[in-house]
Amino acid sequence: TLQKQRSESLYKEALEHIVGGVNSPSRSFKAVGGGAPVFMKRGQGAYFWDEDGNRYIDYLAAYGPIILGHAHPHVTAAICRAAENGTLYGTPTELEIEFARMLKEAIPSLDKVRFVNSGTEAVMSTIRVARAYTGRNKIIKFAGCYHGHSDLVLVAAGSGPSTLGIPDSAGIPVSIAHEVITVPYNDLGALDEALARWGSDVAAVMVEPVVGNFGMVMPKPGFLEGLCAVARRNGSLVIYDEVITAFRFHYGTVQNFDGLPSGTDFAAIEPDLTALGKIIGGGLPIGAYGGRKDIMAQVAPLGPAYQAGTMAGNPASISAGIACLQVLQEPGTYARLDKLGAVLEAGLADAARKHGVALTINRIRGALSTHFCDHPVTNYDEAQNTDSEQFALFFRLMLEEGICLAPSKYEAWFTTIAHTEDDIAVTVEAADRAFAAMAH
Ligand code: PMP
Repeated sequence: TLQKQRSESLYKEALEHIVGGVNSPSRSFKAVGGGAPVFMKRGQGAYFWDEDGNRYIDYLAAYGPIILGHAHPHVTAAICRAAENGTLYGTPTELEIEFARMLKEAIPSLDKVRFVNSGTEAVMSTIRVARAYTGRNKIIKFAGCYHGHSDLVLVAAGSGPSTLGIPDSAGIPVSIAHEVITVPYNDLGALDEALARWGSDVAAVMVEPVVGNFGMVMPKPGFLEGLCAVARRNGSLVIYDEVITAFRFHYGTVQNFDGLPSGTDFAAIEPDLTALGKIIGGGLPIGAYGGRKDIMAQVAPLGPAYQAGTMAGNPASISAGIACLQVLQEPGTYARLDKLGAVLEAGLADAARKHGVALTINRIRGALSTHFCDHPVTNYDEAQNTDSEQFALFFRLMLEEGICLAPSKYEAWFTTIAHTEDDIAVTVEAADRAFAAMAH
């Protein structure tokens, strides 16, 4: 069995100094039975080594950004170069223009961009801009979608689409939650109902156009078209939160992803604003938002919507982002991720079937989610209604096997370009043993 003495003693020490021992709650093992999380020491390619010297195949990919694997040499070189020239200027730089151009070339709806430091900031800023532009206050979001930890988006569903949201965290005033309406994903009827009730107050409809936060979930045919059409008819903006999805499935965003349901009308699913993060920072902190020129003209110093950042557009993050996108542009990158994902999906599905473990797999190219249930997962209710105990057991068994997953039943497995078919085979063999143990 896994050596974990050092992780355990570091966890004890961490608890003395860092709240909960972790700097993001998703890193704790609370959802998988508690105890010390694994303290990692080094990452290289598809592998992690922990403080006790155990090696893991990594599918966490730091919750998404590490699509090239750890310490990719092209990104590392770019970061070192940036560091040698000074990491922060507080002035504009040419690098920012280069990166903005790259993003605009890949994402057709971006006329203008602004760089920030995290996905949370990016989303928060799109909401302010949408409110400034429309002069309205409310937003509609979808249950189970995560948009960072700012007040407005940490709001859960009320008891139906015609009710206002309730705070999902202490410290969020009910008055703020009342500016949010939460409806089920993939449910245009509920969106219509919410707009019929609150429409004249709704500044924006915010959505993960492909969901990454309660499993990998595709929009049903017509969902995004319908969403954009009813939002526009209502005078509300459409905001895509592509913090997880941008550059994940192809070199671009969901708005131009050829893996959407066949018959998708791409002209009809353009967002007004897009929030970005994760992959575009190549592993350093970043966020960005952008969209239509007349809307982005609301942002200071051009317009009345204030948004700023000491660290925003810093040369280190921008350099890492440019380097990451350069590697992703190489021919074959996404085909390779898709292939790895397909082999992993097939292997996991076979092994689960063999041992009679009910498993639903949602895969989109190199990313997949595993749900312990025998029903499809197309919205948050269905994702919630999957077996948490089984996931916790599976997570622990896989960790013992040296396979690192996120300690949450909703989180995706991310393959990286550093994973090999051998790594996938080793993973599938581990899963086979884990399912066998679970079946007993
Ligand atoms: N939006 C989405 C879709 C996300 O998945 C996340 C993070 N998981 C965020 C926003 C927040 O990003 P960050 O953690 O960088 O603030």
